[in-house]
Amino acid sequence: TQTLDIIGGGMAGSEAAWQAAQAGIAVRLHEMRPKVGTFAHRTGDLAEMVCSNSFRSDDDTSNAVGLLHWEMRAADGLIMEMADRHRLPAGGALAVDRDAFSAAVTERLRAHPLIEIVEGEVTALPDDGTWIVATGPLTGSRLAEAIAAEAGQDALAFFDAIAPIVHADSIDMSVAWRQSRYDKGETEEERTAYINCPMDRDRYEAFIDALLAAEKTEFKEGETAGYFDGCLPIEVMAERGRETLRHGPMKPVGLTNQHQPDIKAHAVVQLRRDNALGTLYNIVGFQTKMKYGAQTSVFRMIPGLEEARFARLGGIHRNTFINSPTLLDDQMRLRSRPHIRFAGQITGVEGYVESAAMGLLAGRLAAAELQGRTLPELPKTTAMGALVNHITGGADAKTFQPMNVNFGLFPPVEAKGGRRNRATRYLAYTDRAKADWTAWLGAATVREAAE
Ligand code: FAD
Repeated sequence: TQTLDIIGGGMAGSEAAWQAAQAGIAVRLHEMRPKVGTFAHRTGDLAEMVCSNSFRSDDDTSNAVGLLHWEMRAADGLIMEMADRHRLPAGGALAVDRDAFSAAVTERLRAHPLIEIVEGEVTALPDDGTWIVATGPLTGSRLAEAIAAEAGQDALAFFDAIAPIVHADSIDMSVAWRQSRYDKGETEEERTAYINCPMDRDRYEAFIDALLAAEKTEFKEGETAGYFDGCLPIEVMAERGRETLRHGPMKPVGLTNQHQPDIKAHAVVQLRRDNALGTLYNIVGFQTKMKYGAQTSVFRMIPGLEEARFARLGGIHRNTFINSPTLLDDQMRLRSRPHIRFAGQITGVEGYVESAAMGLLAGRLAAAELQGRTLPELPKTTAMGALVNHITGGADAKTFQPMNVNFGLFPPVEAKGGRRNRATRYLAYTDRAKADWTAWLGAATVREAAE
């Protein structure tokens, strides 16, 4: 029988190991801790939560991450089972006792007759066998170099510099307008790829004041090395001079306000389409270390974004991740070496839950492949399908940055009887996802029995 090798026993690797072993596959799980540590991990346990002890919202009727919980529970996910077992009271959030949680995951995997845990750092990409790389945001440096050598330096990032992402339907288009700078583009679609928000002098000055005054998150020790050459946080640009942004990401040139063509804007904030569906837009050049609360209030000062809903807020972190849209196929395999899959945060998803979810999927896909089965196509209407579709195809490869699960990644729901209110719409998304996920799990089982 063939063995599946998994590198990294974090959220993704632990879940992948569990899923494959439960499907009857022998698994070797390679974990470098405690021999080799990272700046964020403290223990030698598997599935360590490096920062917050929360798996975020557990609401599976109106929240995309809560829906992902639901889907993972339905697929007998180990991470969710152990999170539920070590749950702490936290309102609508799923918070856990972190040490008990990781210890329980470790114990369960160690006790599995088909799982062997191999201690030690993996430093090269394997030439043969069937592998999953799930080494996370703090991938060991030698393996990271090997990945860069295989994928190309440009296809591996060591930092994320995330600009906030806005739900398109929350932008006030009576203020903003669609136009690319100097009307560049071959097609109408390209010429209208950007949404522009104009600012007069007073608004601009007030915005700079707010940026300078906003509360910021400090970099952790060891986090910034080699970073600041590429993309500065906007508040750092503002600190360099009040006009810096007006000559940088907020320059008003090459744009005409379609609502007021005669008035020249003092500054313009541009948003660029972020997914193929056109439901999400990122604020161009607005990577930031402002705290989340401050970001919401500062960015809502931008004309047209007063009511903006954010699919994710900005940030800058140490984060090793690959350019999945160019490197991975829809089975999460490296196109250039299809015996290697990637899973977890290194694929460009963000968060414990999303990472575990991608581990769940990679584990099932690898197990099926080793057993000569093919899984039915995963519906993009499920949280799992929407997320993997985003990283392997839906996202723009040129601006690819890590992503949390959110309803903007899903194909829009049919709005029967006009525009629904938000709660009804989210319920429609989650109902559709649950039905499709249940059907997919069932079809996979039926196919397994038949083959
Ligand atoms: P990890 O959980 O990091 O697991 C990867 C594993 O691979 C690790 O155990 C590591 O030791 C091992 N490994 C790495 N390289 C090698 C190698 N070469 N050989 C063998 N083993 C190796 N997400 C949240 O949801 N909430 C938060 O509060 C949060 N805070 C974060 C804070 C920091 C500082 C960082 C860096 C990330 C944070 N994240 C947070 C993101 C979080 O890391 C991921 O969501 C999640 O842990 C990623 O899961 P993963 O399995 O992909 O990686």
